[in-house]
Amino acid sequence: MSNFYEETVLSVHHWTDTLFSFTTTRDPTFRFKNGQFTMIGIKVNEKPLLRAYSVVSTNYDDNLEFFSIKVPDGPLTSKLQNLKVGDPLIVGKKATGTLVLDNLKDGKHLYLLGTGTGLAPFLSIIRDPETYERYEKVVLVHGCRQISELAYGEKITKDLPEDEFLGDMIREQLIYYPTVTREPFRNRGRITDLMTSGKLYEDVGLPPMNGADDRFMLCGSPQMLVDLKAIFLENNLVEGNHGEPGDFVIERAFVER
Ligand SMILES: Cc1cc2nc3c(=O)[nH]c(=O)nc-3n(C[C@H](O)[C@H](O)[C@H](O)COP(=O)(O)OP(=O)(O)OC[C@H]3O[C@@H](n4cnc5c(N)ncnc54)[C@H](O)[C@@H]3O)c2cc1C
Repeated sequence: MSNFYEETVLSVHHWTDTLFSFTTTRDPTFRFKNGQFTMIGIKVNEKPLLRAYSVVSTNYDDNLEFFSIKVPDGPLTSKLQNLKVGDPLIVGKKATGTLVLDNLKDGKHLYLLGTGTGLAPFLSIIRDPETYERYEKVVLVHGCRQISELAYGEKITKDLPEDEFLGDMIREQLIYYPTVTREPFRNRGRITDLMTSGKLYEDVGLPPMNGADDRFMLCGSPQMLVDLKAIFLENNLVEGNHGEPGDFVIERAFVER
C-alpha cells in the first residue's frame, strides 16, 4: 500500500512574488492533529520530490490548504509555484510534529509565535475550538520583513470573527499581532526584541512573561528558534514534547541546507 495520497489542486493564491497558498482535495482517510506537518510534493521525471509542509487547514475541513515560500532555485518550490488548478499533488499519509495542544500544559495565555511561513501551523490551531477552551487569551504573533508578507491578515481580522461557529471565541479571545522589521508599520521589530523589551506584552495588554500562566508555540527560522529558546530557558520554562507536556514547543519553519 502506498504511503502517499494523490490529491488534486483546487485553488492557488499568490500573495507576493515569494509567497503563495494553495488548496487541494483531501482523502477522507487522511487524519492529522491541528498544527502538524506532512510531506508533500510532485513527481519530477516520475520520481516523487517531497518536502515537509505544515497543514494550514484544520482536521475538520473537507479540503487541504498549504502556505508556501517560493525559493528561486529551490528543487521543489521553483516548480511548485507554477501549480495550476487540476494539477496533482502528492501528500504523505503520516502527519507528525510537536506543535500540538497535547504537548503543552494548561495555562491562561497561549502565544503562537511565527515568522514567515512559520505562520502556517498556527492558522490551523487558531481555528481549533479546543484552543479557546484551554486558554483564555490566544496571541498570534506573525513576524515578517515587509507588510506585503503578512499573508492571511485579512482572513484573521475580517473573516474569522464572522465565522458561524468560532466567531464568538475569536472575537473574545484571539489577539492578532503582526510585526514587520523592514518598513514602517504599527508594530515594528523582531519577536525576540519585542519580548525582551516587554513591548509585546504591553501592546497586547497582558502581563510580562510568567511561567504559571503563559504557554508558547514557536515556528520560525533556525536562528529565531535558538534565540527564543534561550529566553524561555532563562525564565525557567520547560520544553514540551510527546508524552511530556511543557511550557513551550518548537518547530522549524525550514531547514538551512
Ligand atoms: C517541519 C517543517 C515544516 C515546514 N513547513 C513549511 C511550510 O508550511 N511552508 C513552506 O513554505 N515551507 C515549509 N517547510 C520548508 C520546506 O520543507 C522546504 O524547505 C521548502 O518548501 C523549500 O523547498 P525547496 O525544495 O524549493 O528548497 P530547499 O532545498 O528545501 O530549501 C532551500 C533553502 O531555502 C530556504 N527555505 C526553505 N524553505 C523556506 C521557508 N519556508 N521560509 C524561508 N526560507 C526557506 C532555506 O534557506 C533552505 O536552505 C517546512 C520545513 C520543515 C522542516
